[in-house]
Amino acid sequence: MRKTEYPEPIRQLIAQLRQMPGVGPRSAERIALWIIRSRNDHPEQITNAITAARQAVRPCARCGFFATEELCDICADATRAADQLCVVEQATDILPLEKTSAFRGHYHSLGGRISPLDHVAPEDLRIKELIARVEAEKFSEVIFALAADVEGEATTNYLVELLKPTGVTLSRIAHGLPAGGGLESADELTLYQALSGRRQL
Ligand SMILES: [Zn+2]
Repeated sequence: MRKTEYPEPIRQLIAQLRQMPGVGPRSAERIALWIIRSRNDHPEQITNAITAARQAVRPCARCGFFATEELCDICADATRAADQLCVVEQATDILPLEKTSAFRGHYHSLGGRISPLDHVAPEDLRIKELIARVEAEKFSEVIFALAADVEGEATTNYLVELLKPTGVTLSRIAHGLPAGGGLESADELTLYQALSGRRQL
């Protein structure tokens, strides 16, 4: 007996939606049916927003955060402390730190952390750019805000050794960040305390 299925275009749509993070088979089916049955143009608005965001947003040329110009809003903000640099793993780590208001300096996103198991080597990260910034921008302090797990620690240690010869003060945020979770899953108070309680290296 042949099993009845949705027509091919709906099955295609479900298959495409399933590629999105966090969307399982049931959600994909629900969203696909909502798109098909919508009586307004909300699905088209979503299509347009996807196209617009993908065309307009790029990584900031200096720090790696999300930008619509060459520099992001943080790098372009002249009121921020120009002498402090906070190094994070991912561009998505920056907003949680911003929300704590504990830091008003500049950021540098590495684009990941050193991870031999995932074949991520130092040259795959924005480390050359970091060294160049530390040499050119005359920071008085570089703060490391990487995850407190094995790979985050190893990456911090690697960078500390690289930056020591520059003579800049190096510090790290206090421990207490969820291991493996990175900064995204840490709550604001934990992050605030981690930033305020940073210690020199
Ligand atoms: Zn930037």
